[in-house]
Amino acid sequence: MTALTSSSGHADHGPHPPRPRPGHQVVAWHPPMRLEARPRILRWTCECRARVYYLVVGGGRAHVRRTDRQTGAAHETARMRYAEAERLWHEILLGQAA
Ligand SMILES: [Zn+2]
Repeated sequence: MTALTSSSGHADHGPHPPRPRPGHQVVAWHPPMRLEARPRILRWTCECRARVYYLVVGGGRAHVRRTDRQTGAAHETARMRYAEAERLWHEILLGQAA
């Protein structure tokens, strides 16, 4: 994560995603693929939670990453258009995807 830079918000205080709602969209999470030379974090959720989500852009594509602070495990979605990734981001923040 040290190679990532942030461009907005506060590193230690972002939104708190709610518990996923019944029937939420199940996101396909993959091991980190490190496809971007210079990934940039646009948004993140609050790091007081065990699971932290990041909206990441790079190379003209975007994806969502999540980390589990207890295990240090990181996972990320497939690359997608920015608009798609932003929609997924909002769904996660609404408990509609996880
Ligand atoms: Zn918090």
